[in-house]
Amino acid sequence: TEQSPSRLPEPRISPSVAPSTNSHLEIDAVTKNFGSQAVLKGVNLSVAKGGTTAIVGPSGSGKTTLLRLIAGFEHPATGSISLNGSPVAGDGVWKPAHKRHVGYVAQDGALFPHLTVGQNIAFGLSAAKLDGGRRAVNARVNELLEMVSLDTAMARRRPHQLSGGQQQRVALARALAREPELMLLDEPFSALDAGLRVATRRAVAKVLNEAGVTTILVTHDQAEALSFADQVAVMRGGKLAQIGNPFVVYTRPADRATAEFLGDAV
Ligand code: ADP
Repeated sequence: TEQSPSRLPEPRISPSVAPSTNSHLEIDAVTKNFGSQAVLKGVNLSVAKGGTTAIVGPSGSGKTTLLRLIAGFEHPATGSISLNGSPVAGDGVWKPAHKRHVGYVAQDGALFPHLTVGQNIAFGLSAAKLDGGRRAVNARVNELLEMVSLDTAMARRRPHQLSGGQQQRVALARALAREPELMLLDEPFSALDAGLRVATRRAVAKVLNEAGVTTILVTHDQAEALSFADQVAVMRGGKLAQIGNPFVVYTRPADRATAEFLGDAV
């Protein structure tokens, strides 16, 4: 049954987005090799603007490599990657990491060990050319620490004086400081104990949501995928075995191997 034209919804077109799509990230047939090892074997993935995608899958399946390709730390062998409708990698195109407006939080946080927590976070701020000088930078550092539920007194400490979980949250704050349009999180809550993980996950989800940041999260935690994501992508052997709504993926796995992996991951 056809709707009459007068009953069709008004098209919502934002000027910064191509009229035909609300897509932030398009990955098209991307492959990647390390030496003779094929690590990504033709990955297709589409992520909507402001959406949250969880990538789950066994260790070694290529999840981190995929994030690093999106961030611009690696070149694809074949295939292409587009952000906001513009190609950034593949087909002879290359846009470097610092021009992609992408935040990346590595699994180990990778803070600069010789800088204080405050300097680590401000490192992202100076790159973003914040106006207002030192005082504005300090205020923003404190705001970012509060966002990730850390005491502002932590700003003067060095990374080695913090617990693993605190370091992860500083790494998140440092990535947030650059106000990325797309945030890539590689198991960002893995070093946190259960209670703190839920609280931090909620706080980070709130920050990213309110800022409209598109998020891709690699996680082993099913509760995290279910509560955080509007799309779950299951990776296996360098391919995406299934992509869909979290409820559908967890209740109707595409095949036995996916069912077994998801069952084991609970
Ligand atoms: P996951 O994040 O799912 O655990 P990774 O993307 O880290 O998977 O790794 C996928 C495969 O690629 C692994 O076999 C890993 O050893 C290999 N690999 C990843 N990075 C490199 C690299 N820089 N050089 C060589 N091999 C790599």
